[in-house]
Amino acid sequence: MTRYSVGVTDDDRPPPRRSRRKVLLYTLGGVSAAAGAYIGHSEWDKRRVPPGAARVEPREGVIEKGAVVAERRKLGRTGVEVGVVGIGAGGLDRATSPRLIERAVDHGMTYIDTSVCYGDSEDVIGRTLSDAKHLRDKLVIATKWDPGHRATKAEMIASLDKSLRRMGTDHVDFMQIHWLGGGHMLGDSGFNRLDNPALYEAMDEAKKSGKVRFFGATSHHEKRAAILEHAIDKGAFDLVLVKMNVLDHQEAGIPRLIAHAKAKGVAVVAMKSQPGGGRLPEGYASSRYSVFQANVRWCLEQGASCVVHSSIPVDEHAQDLAASAVSKKLGARDLLLLDGYARALSPEYCRGCGEACRAACPDGVAIEHVLQFDMYDSQYGWHDAAREHYRALPERERWSERCTSCNACSAACPYGVDAAPRVRRARSQLG
Ligand code: SF4
Ligand code: SF4
Repeated sequence: MTRYSVGVTDDDRPPPRRSRRKVLLYTLGGVSAAAGAYIGHSEWDKRRVPPGAARVEPREGVIEKGAVVAERRKLGRTGVEVGVVGIGAGGLDRATSPRLIERAVDHGMTYIDTSVCYGDSEDVIGRTLSDAKHLRDKLVIATKWDPGHRATKAEMIASLDKSLRRMGTDHVDFMQIHWLGGGHMLGDSGFNRLDNPALYEAMDEAKKSGKVRFFGATSHHEKRAAILEHAIDKGAFDLVLVKMNVLDHQEAGIPRLIAHAKAKGVAVVAMKSQPGGGRLPEGYASSRYSVFQANVRWCLEQGASCVVHSSIPVDEHAQDLAASAVSKKLGARDLLLLDGYARALSPEYCRGCGEACRAACPDGVAIEHVLQFDMYDSQYGWHDAAREHYRALPERERWSERCTSCNACSAACPYGVDAAPRVRRARSQLG
């Protein structure tokens, strides 16, 4: 008998739709499904829901208009303190109102995560800081370099100077290495970009010049825990930004990463906390807000210092929603909601592992990357970035003529992800 995260057993569940599907190791209560061994902390245990507890009914989240993120956490050994909800600036464009960014900061969301690669994002931040000069001292700005494994020190310093120019500031608080193992760069293993000596020369120069206070590394990759542990072991990074959500937390080794980071005084910032992006599984439409809030609370409970989300700088309602979420602790009701949500969403959620589907593909299509860029387009609404990344893949990794009628990747995915139609969708929308 498999024990799931919130104490509900297989006996309480309907039979799996396809018996060959891999048993999923959900992580909500820190219970190892395979061993039934409890690996969470004692506080969590007290809140576990007894087997057979009633399923939580969908409901709206509780939102307090104008709520402020009162809780602040330190970013590891840097001692920098931020509100526990941060501004994900990946979706900023020329239509973004600087007023909304200012409002977020005024409501305690003081960490902003951008990148030189996020289109107009740094320019919009620059416009905001120019309109409201007092914000610079309140904001902790984290931007990114996107160096390849052969990038030179001069290229990285030029990229830093470009970021500073665009944002109209003389320094950033964190410079992070963008998207390790992202598939957007030829020859990137995730690890090798961290082994480039020029990177550390550039970091040294940037720090000495006062243009950067601290450094970080970021990854969404299925092996992100190992990649970011490699970064932490370099001793030069004070922060990791990592994809963290209820669906593949254990499988991706995130608890181990968090423990490793904590032991070294490195801060963990969570991104992609909502595994479905904008899409909710069937039956959860009326739980949209409570799912959002539970996911945010859950990441903070796992040990993230801050959770960044891309709706914060563009949606006043999302700001209120997130700020209201963190005024309450994660509770049994959240766990039940997340458990059902994770189960329902699981067959739609590509973990990015690139394993069974790739092994089944006769033509070597980079299915995990294609699905990621399709998600950016169809769920995040990042149409230009999705198209750009998709087209940067070598043609043979994007598409094969066989894809029009083949479904081998869908049949092979152990999680039930119907990958083939998404490969076709990506071709028609992004190709
Ligand atoms: S489709 Fe399935 S096997 Fe392929 S990358 Fe996604 S989760 Fe992994
Ligand atoms: S549908 Fe396309 S990507 Fe999927 S297995 Fe077939 S050839 Fe490969």
